[in-house]
Amino acid sequence: MPIDNWLCALPQLDHAHVDADLLALGDAAHPFLSDQCACLQIELLSGHLGGRLGKLKRDVRQQVIAYSLYIRQLDVVLESGPRALCAGNCPHPPAGCCAANQFEPLIFSDLMGAQRSPTALHMAHVIGLMQKLESRHNLGQDRQLKPGYCELLALDGCTLRLFKSPRCAHYLCAELGRTLVARNAEAKDFVEAMNQATQCAICAPQDYTSAAVLAAAASLFSAFQVQPQAPAAKN
Ligand code: SF4
Ligand code: SF4
Repeated sequence: MPIDNWLCALPQLDHAHVDADLLALGDAAHPFLSDQCACLQIELLSGHLGGRLGKLKRDVRQQVIAYSLYIRQLDVVLESGPRALCAGNCPHPPAGCCAANQFEPLIFSDLMGAQRSPTALHMAHVIGLMQKLESRHNLGQDRQLKPGYCELLALDGCTLRLFKSPRCAHYLCAELGRTLVARNAEAKDFVEAMNQATQCAICAPQDYTSAAVLAAAASLFSAFQVQPQAPAAKN
């Protein structure tokens, strides 16, 4: 499983914050992940971030880990159905919605926002660093970049799974949105929540994620046949 492979490969530099991070994040609701999967992710990211960025503030570290848990859940939801509809049906070949760099966590209008919080800015920096590690790791798995499009796009798709930017993670093109709703009218709330999240200005840590997206996805749980994701074997 690509995400677990990468997480397990991250250097574990300092476990000093693992207990505190598990306490702060382990009990939060994560309906699309098993407890075992969520706790392993918290442990591995805490052990890496705590040592690599020793002066990282606790709230930034925990917000970044919480963001990764959110994106992992969204990944489970998208893998359960919507992504398969992109394959072979994309109206914008050959790169779909990945023709340009969209991986920056914050865009110009976010940075210019009068209300932006220092924690949200710091999160963007850390997420950017983690994107580099994740992309490099995945490119090491016999994958090759697809030149001329987003610089993180490989021949077989994006080199990010866990640290996608909020806009990449939430983006559904109009055609895909219509297809999802045509196949299941109950997908309407999910598509609307995803569109709103794509357009949301990111000023504060909570703007990186959308509770409405996960709530709407939960109502599609049976329709998409999503199962909580269990972690792969640690080795
Ligand atoms: S979301 Fe739309 S543009 Fe992007 S890959 Fe899927 S079908 Fe193509
Ligand atoms: S980061 Fe990934 S999903 Fe986002 S535009 Fe680039 S290749 Fe596409």
